[in-house]
Amino acid sequence: MSSIPTVTLNDGAQIPQLGFGVWQVPDAEATPAVRAAIEAGYRSIDTAAIYENEAGTGAAITEALAGGVAREDLYVTTKLWNSGTRDWSGEQGRDAVLREFDASLAKLGLDQLDLYLIHWPRPMHGDSYLNIWKAFEQLKADGKVKSIGVSNFGTEQLTRLLDEASVAPALNQVELHPYFPQTELRAFHAEHGIATEAWSPLGQGKELLAEPALVKIAEKHGRTVAQVVLRWHLQSGVIAIPKSVTPSRIRENLDVAGFELDAEDLAAIAAVATGKRIGPDPQEFDWN
Ligand code: NAD
Repeated sequence: MSSIPTVTLNDGAQIPQLGFGVWQVPDAEATPAVRAAIEAGYRSIDTAAIYENEAGTGAAITEALAGGVAREDLYVTTKLWNSGTRDWSGEQGRDAVLREFDASLAKLGLDQLDLYLIHWPRPMHGDSYLNIWKAFEQLKADGKVKSIGVSNFGTEQLTRLLDEASVAPALNQVELHPYFPQTELRAFHAEHGIATEAWSPLGQGKELLAEPALVKIAEKHGRTVAQVVLRWHLQSGVIAIPKSVTPSRIRENLDVAGFELDAEDLAAIAAVATGKRIGPDPQEFDWN
């Protein structure tokens, strides 16, 4: 029903290149937001245990399935909150991951997840992510999740995983938008068969959407700046998960087919990069 392109992951699974993110959406509001997204044609939803809206998100998914949307046409991602206040080492740490996973799956009302991510690398806790990853590999082997990946990982942590784990991460979800295009990390991903997924793909809807160079490109194509930015993600081979709770914007953000950014547009977008993050530096992030 929709023309959303897909990206094939290194384990053979396919992920829609445009999805719907629900960070900062309260649980009760997640149901109407995800309902509006599915009605608009989104088939991929990105949540996380720490967003505390897996139940509200799950209610909209359950509704969609009851209403005739096929499970295999929906792509659901959630993330392990690998809190820095907990011990993730040893067998006990791996059991904790399995319990967290089961709790997320139950809230979502699903019996299988499409993609499970380690939310942050937290390198100040040593290599605890390697032990967590072993539990992720078990979840995949048991068929409870189709694909496993990471979020906010840098090349150092990815290299450790690629060298030491049995299953390579399918994807790394990182902050990425025209101000912070992650050129080097993307090249590393490409070299190692890891898909790139952009969080805050619209720069959280702030200055980026009023950036004069982008406004000019939007006017040229008769589109909005948000649509130009999402088109840029798609043409870059990046998976994007924009968030909105406004039905008209939810639809607008999906309506990005039917125009193509040319070389001049792409050069103008590359020129707005500042190299500044909006979110925290993942190598230092260790909130609770
Ligand atoms: P975003 O870049 O998607 O921006 C969302 C904001 O932009 C909205 O709240 C709204 O204010 C505005 N907006 C959206 N559509 C618009 C439109 N068409 N026109 C004008 N304004 C518009 O930011 P985000 O929510 O931070 O990121 C998207 C998703 O990425 C999140 O919901 C979450 O799922 C994920 N995420 C993951 C992490 C992580 O650590 N893995 C961190 C942040 C976000």
